[in-house]
Amino acid sequence: MNRKYRKTIIAGNWKMNMVASQVKHFAEELKTLSPRAKWCETVVCVPFVNIPAALKAFKDSRVAVGAENINENEKGAYTGEISANMLADLGVKYVIIGHSERRQYYGESDITVNKKVHSALKAGLYPIVCVGESLEQRELGVTLELITLQVRTALAGIPAEKMRRIVIAYEPIWAIGTGKTATAEQANEVCNAIRTVIRKNYGARIARAVTIQYGGSMNEGNARELLAQPDIDGGLIGGASLIPEKFAKIIAAANQDVI
Ligand code: PEP
Repeated sequence: MNRKYRKTIIAGNWKMNMVASQVKHFAEELKTLSPRAKWCETVVCVPFVNIPAALKAFKDSRVAVGAENINENEKGAYTGEISANMLADLGVKYVIIGHSERRQYYGESDITVNKKVHSALKAGLYPIVCVGESLEQRELGVTLELITLQVRTALAGIPAEKMRRIVIAYEPIWAIGTGKTATAEQANEVCNAIRTVIRKNYGARIARAVTIQYGGSMNEGNARELLAQPDIDGGLIGGASLIPEKFAKIIAAANQDVI
């Protein structure tokens, strides 16, 4: 983390878990366990149907609500889809884009991700753009090239003045939901490479200000070490974000006065 230059963001990704009637209880527990997140922004990204309940439950707190996906189009004949405008109109702040599960199960390409980033920004949302390599790609030694391409494609055509709204989440696919975490050094190496791509395209001032998260089995036991790395500015957390006690401990790790 480097709080001097950029925001630390701890975001939960609930995936397809929790029903709307569970949200109030979750929010009350989290607010009790984590009353003052002074140094970091906390976000819960929830399934679409849980968004109204989450907005209500976190209304008077410092927890922002995010979505897990959007359709890349502004509106039209896309039965069953949700646009960025629809979310912004509700009061949603963040949206996860290009999560590896969407890339893997729903065929989202880097080009789709880029279209979604444009759409999200146009609607005033803050995209959390996910990038990451598979185990095979890591073993072949192509991680940094691959991530560079993913980041460059995701950000194609995004003007410099919009970059302050972008969050990048480095999520090695082999670490998501597996209990295997990248070492703090591995994670920082890739987060640093992402910042280098941004620096080459947008300059040092913008690169310094962009929040880059790590995601992949981050939990209450490893958060502190990961977040102590200079280029890791937060976490995108799946499993551990569903349990208020665990999520609150991760928030606390991001909130230490000195790290
Ligand atoms: C994720 O879903 O983005 C994620 C990182 O999941 P987990 O923390 O469960 O690995």
